[in-house]
Amino acid sequence: MIGAIEAGGTKFCCALASDRNTILASASFPTTSPTETLSRVRSFFQEAQLKHGTLQSLGLACFGPVGLDSNSHDFGHILNTPKSGWAHYPIVEALRTSLGVPVAFDTDVNGAALGEFHCGAGRGHSSLVYITVGTGIGGGAIIDGKILHGLIHPEMGHMQVPRHPDDNYRGHCPSHGDCLEGLACGPALGDRWNMAAETLTGDHPAWDIQADYLSSMCINLTAVLSPETIILGGGVMQYPGLLDKTRTRFLERFNNYLPLHERLGSLDSYIQSPELSNQAGTVGALLLAESARPESVSR
Ligand code: ADP
Ligand code: ZN
Repeated sequence: MIGAIEAGGTKFCCALASDRNTILASASFPTTSPTETLSRVRSFFQEAQLKHGTLQSLGLACFGPVGLDSNSHDFGHILNTPKSGWAHYPIVEALRTSLGVPVAFDTDVNGAALGEFHCGAGRGHSSLVYITVGTGIGGGAIIDGKILHGLIHPEMGHMQVPRHPDDNYRGHCPSHGDCLEGLACGPALGDRWNMAAETLTGDHPAWDIQADYLSSMCINLTAVLSPETIILGGGVMQYPGLLDKTRTRFLERFNNYLPLHERLGSLDSYIQSPELSNQAGTVGALLLAESARPESVSR
């Protein structure tokens, strides 16, 4: 058995599976204090193991920022999160001790990127970027088959994008104001227009501005990373027509600078929706767990 945890700032989703495609038990609960949340994690896995068999390893796709550098003292810790009680929490060690199995971990969006890469919309490619546009904006990249970490890990939501000429909104990011996340996450839409993103009508000017910011993001990702595909997930991307608007604006603004069409045939396969929808993080965490199985580590 392998285990997966998608640890989000709002909720923890746990799963026990016999392989990446076969989830046998799952549960989710709200993220409260580390002690309470981890005690629920422990209860879930204890109960699930009694029914289905012993856990060999665990994969964790975790909200961040998180310490991923194994040579650093903060490896396996959640870093400077505003989430009460979680800053500097050594989550990997806590899980390893509590469940008694090896733990492989990465950021939540890197986990989702890994899931889409092996089992979803990224199959058959050697690189991709996965972005979620939801309560925040986050992104993970797989380049030449490997998750991109670099110095810490990418924080794609905090890239700077040119301001739309009709937009005076100050921005929602507590650190940067009008970074991409500050201008285009779900709560920024709600705050700017005084109504929840999902209730804005299709002809509202919000969506042209939103597509403008997301197309800037796709241009930046294309120019910097040259991924074979960009996968846009998260609650805001469920708005009907937003993905198409983003593609159209991307095309207009990038001005055919790269011969994308020659390579891809269609822009629909370059900027696309996830295939695993809200399961990407869990599947990614299962893939991480497979890599931490005792027999794969010693191989
Ligand atoms: P999280 O990022 O917390 O995991 P989601 O990806 O579901 O959660 O994103 C939640 C955000 O998405 C909220 O700000 C919400 O207003 C927005 N949202 C959810 N559904 C839609 C929709 N159909 N159209 C536009 N925005 C939506
Ligand atoms: Zn920011």
